[in-house]
Amino acid sequence: MAKRKTGAYEWGEAPPSSWIDISIPFRDKMVHWPSDPEPQIVRLKDRDAGDPVSLMDMHFIDHAGTHVDASLHFIAGGKTIDQMPVNATIGRARVIEIKNKEVITLEELIPHNIRRGERILFKTENSERCYKTDEFIEDYVYFATEVAQHLVDRGVRAVGLDYISIGTYKDQKNLHDTHEILLNAGVYIIEGINLAGVKPGRYELICLPLLLERGDAGPARAIIRPI
Ligand SMILES: [Zn+2]
Repeated sequence: MAKRKTGAYEWGEAPPSSWIDISIPFRDKMVHWPSDPEPQIVRLKDRDAGDPVSLMDMHFIDHAGTHVDASLHFIAGGKTIDQMPVNATIGRARVIEIKNKEVITLEELIPHNIRRGERILFKTENSERCYKTDEFIEDYVYFATEVAQHLVDRGVRAVGLDYISIGTYKDQKNLHDTHEILLNAGVYIIEGINLAGVKPGRYELICLPLLLERGDAGPARAIIRPI
């Protein structure tokens, strides 16, 4: 039967996708926080090697790769990832580009006029620089503590950063305080997204963490498309 045209694409084919995958791929020995166990992802059985099926064996913590933090991560008695309302990380989102190559400062953030209920994804130099290697990069761009407080004061719903932690590796207090301020306020934190090539602006976001019972985080697939 001849193929039937429906608009720009052939009938029976998927329409062209405007979705942009901002997840980082899970793979063996992928980038991880230095004190956490190294992810191990291997093919346990291999159809191409004559096994009856192919299977992968995966060992990693719940903060591996692209993931969403739940408040239990830093807050005793906090909510777990399986309690997260799915619309916390599904819906309209804004990508903001940060020029500072060391830290996201309040000074740079304020002109962006953050509004209540927004989901903000921060694009920094990290996206281009840090994912070229599986080695952990210590001097990634992170949130100044007052930035976390400002986002809470403005009533954001979710925030994302393009490396595996919003706080810096180099200062335990900043690492702790940035997480605690946001998680205590019920803001969900998406870490480990890659916004290389993504223009600042308005998008639709779909990010769903694994439904991990009592998890303090969940590995996630995150995609956006312009609106
Ligand atoms: Zn995390």
